[in-house]
Amino acid sequence: MVQISVWEKESFYAPKDIVIIGSGFVGLWSAYFLKKKNPKLSISIIDRGIIPTGASTRNAGFACFGSVTELIADTMSIGEEKMLDIVEMRYKGLKKIRKIFNEKKIGYEKHGGYELISESQNMDFNILRSNIDWLNQKLKKITHRPKTFQLSDEKIHQFGFLGANHLIENKLEAQLHSGKLCQALLQLVVSMGVTVINNIEIKNFEKINNKIELHTNLDFNLSATQLLICTNAFAKQLLPSMDVEPARGQVLVTSPIEKLKFKGTFHFDEGFYYFRNLGNRVLLGGARNKAFEQEHTYELNTSDKIQSELETFLQQIILPGESYTIDHRWSGIMGVGSEKKPILEEIDKNIFCAVRMGGMGVALAPEIGKKVAKRMLNRS
Ligand SMILES: Cc1cc2nc3c(=O)[nH]c(=O)nc-3n(C[C@H](O)[C@H](O)[C@H](O)COP(=O)(O)OP(=O)(O)OC[C@H]3O[C@@H](n4cnc5c(N)ncnc54)[C@H](O)[C@@H]3O)c2cc1C
Repeated sequence: MVQISVWEKESFYAPKDIVIIGSGFVGLWSAYFLKKKNPKLSISIIDRGIIPTGASTRNAGFACFGSVTELIADTMSIGEEKMLDIVEMRYKGLKKIRKIFNEKKIGYEKHGGYELISESQNMDFNILRSNIDWLNQKLKKITHRPKTFQLSDEKIHQFGFLGANHLIENKLEAQLHSGKLCQALLQLVVSMGVTVINNIEIKNFEKINNKIELHTNLDFNLSATQLLICTNAFAKQLLPSMDVEPARGQVLVTSPIEKLKFKGTFHFDEGFYYFRNLGNRVLLGGARNKAFEQEHTYELNTSDKIQSELETFLQQIILPGESYTIDHRWSGIMGVGSEKKPILEEIDKNIFCAVRMGGMGVALAPEIGKKVAKRMLNRS
């Protein structure tokens, strides 16, 4: 047993006004808004990873707010109002990121985004057109653009894709470097006086009088007046009744490709496949729909099945005839549930959670952080 010193107990591990569990984008943005609104608050963020170890540093770095087929599918499943609410949160979130951080510092690049519609999807052209028109009409009040989406089929040949029938362009979409954004946000909250501690796992918590006692994997507890749980996919481990399931997302990155023909972020098949340029390399992820059961896991490794699905897609559709090697492979864990919507709740007095960010949490996190901070500050 390693005993803690009185100095440690009275500083790093001292009781705090607020403890946030999880230093992914949601935990970090929440801390930012809490501190911004009330600089006097003492706040700790606790993460069990050496660095954030869930989705925030392991994603694809799309600065996006939804593709046409995905938003239409969302409208069918959660209804128009909720779909638009979420799109608005993502859009505002991306604006917030750009307002706070220098674009160069976070690798923010505006190459636009696209959705590929393939021959095999058998999509009726008139339906596609009317879906685009309908979404453009609805999104006008969010993006203030008459045409958020437009058909750009002429670029299919230029980009060198095979088997694509249509290409829908969204000039407002961009890409960023998730690692750099996470680090910049971390540095920002630390500069505001937030204590960030890694390598401590919160095992459970209980209310004792008016305080929340947090039991850790080490030989001491932490204590807070308010608790915020931002553990996304892992929410069930602390809150067993939460409607949040893990959904692993796998990614690969190619070697540099001489004269890569495209730049931008690309969606395919309701967002189940996604790829982008990373300089002159290609980052490709997804194919979770090829093995839902297997990808319902907390395990941060990759599988042959999904990686080979990705490689086939890369070879047949994105880079036909090119030679390259696969230089990187990894996975991250998303939080999903019965409804494609984040959960922001006060689960007990002074215990809050902001989880289930799905596949677009980079964009969602700033608004979720802002909303949860407001609710917590109204309580204290
Ligand atoms: C492969 C992949 C690609 C993606 N691509 C994109 C994209 O291009 N664009 C986009 O917008 N979104 C994308 N996403 C989704 C996005 O990354 C997530 O929605 C977002 O990062 C979620 O942030 P978070 O802070 O809620 O969770 P996380 O980043 O998962 O953070 C949760 C943290 O909680 C910590 N934790 C968990 N349990 C405990 C505990 N008991 N004690 C202490 N710490 C704990 C974990 O270590 C982790 O660091 C992708 C996700 C994946 C997996």
